[in-house]
Amino acid sequence: LSDRLTAALQTLTRKGKLSDADIDATAREIRIALLEADVALGVVKTFIARIKERAKGAEVSQALNPAQQVIKIVNEELVGILGGETRRLNLAKTPPTVIMLAGLQGAGKTTLAGKLAMWLKKQGHAPMLVACDLQRPNAVTQLQVVGERAGVVTFAPEPGNGVGDPVDVARRAIAEAKHAQHDVVVVDTAGRLGVDEELMKQAADIRDAVDPDEVLFVVDAMIGQDAVTTAEAFRDGVGFTGVVLTKLDGDARGGAALSVREVTGQPILFASNGEKLEDFDTFHPDRMASRILGMGDVLTLIEQAEQAFDQKQAEKAAEKLSSGQLTLEDFLEQMLAVRKMGPIGNLLGMLPGAGQMKDQLAQVDDKHLDKLQAIIRGMTPAEREDPKMINGSRRLRIANGSGVTVREVNDLVNRFFEARKMMAQMAGRFGFGGGGGSSK
Ligand code: GDP
Ligand code: MG
Repeated sequence: LSDRLTAALQTLTRKGKLSDADIDATAREIRIALLEADVALGVVKTFIARIKERAKGAEVSQALNPAQQVIKIVNEELVGILGGETRRLNLAKTPPTVIMLAGLQGAGKTTLAGKLAMWLKKQGHAPMLVACDLQRPNAVTQLQVVGERAGVVTFAPEPGNGVGDPVDVARRAIAEAKHAQHDVVVVDTAGRLGVDEELMKQAADIRDAVDPDEVLFVVDAMIGQDAVTTAEAFRDGVGFTGVVLTKLDGDARGGAALSVREVTGQPILFASNGEKLEDFDTFHPDRMASRILGMGDVLTLIEQAEQAFDQKQAEKAAEKLSSGQLTLEDFLEQMLAVRKMGPIGNLLGMLPGAGQMKDQLAQVDDKHLDKLQAIIRGMTPAEREDPKMINGSRRLRIANGSGVTVREVNDLVNRFFEARKMMAQMAGRFGFGGGGGSSK
């Protein structure tokens, strides 16, 4: 897919808005990519609609061709939906913090309990695991083994009592955690192969008994489109405050992440990517977005194109500076760019001794910038190109047109000439911009 896209990317420099044709063509490719990543169809539809809306208003970028630009928007949107920055675990004001795990059988809850315990321990916590899966014969032992590996205590019902009551175990575990001063309690629960009422009720009863600070819905990334129905069932049956994606070491593209996030609105907190306890990390939205899109190389290309463009811009501006050809239009552009520490910031940073100038430009506040912008916009293109022609009567006209005093116009024009001279001198002195340039 990305080969096809890469082939379709030719460099065009145009102005204006992205065209519908550009957007539609790329949206089709994105749609295929999302479906291939196993994102649920309904989610794909809403997502594409949102992207089209956003892309429609976008100005055509000079650095990227339309397809690249749409992909960039898609990537940004995906990262945003998947969480922007990772949310941290909610910790209780009065310990212990209770984290309950819920999800289908085989999702990776018990393994996650061990991973979380080890991770929490590394952060300086004293976690305790609680075995509330009393359905499967080996579930308790499995949790104990995992707990031992992580080097933490596991609270489990006494053996030989037959099938115990998980709600009772949960309740006693919290009391024990308080007593033994464990500040985080991780409650492992039972799962079924499919969603069922009894399972949900049990999980809800455990939830009521332990009053968790977090309920983490654990979901196997390989589940693909089914993630939607499963997530909805757990949302309605137990409720959850966060999501953990497991088995990301497999070849699943991770569409489940987008589906669950879109459908439930709950953040994805962690990612599991292997059977070992170390195979675990906080969730990284940017990595997941790139995995879902499956366009890693295209995204790299976009980044490179943007960097190359910035570089070209900077070189052009440097050339103008050193030859004293700076126009008022450039002047305005660069003053505006200082706000974002854009090209002029980079440029000045490259010139030794230019710090003073940078400070001067940085002092220009927003209101002042607005005024300067108004004055320059009040000039004709010819005046902006060649400010020397701005004589007295022109200054009066500009002042009236932009609602400022003649003095303010004078200030601006004088300041411009000063800046131009200073920049040309600096550029010449430091041999920047090729050939030294002639300063006026
Ligand atoms: P539970 O039924 O939800 O408690 O799931 P388990 O923790 O018992 O995990 C089910 C199976 O999946 C076990 O064989 C685990 O070793 C395996 N597993 C869990 N998490 C991962 C993961 O992130 N990657 C891989 N490859 N296997 C995992
Ligand atoms: Mg289990």
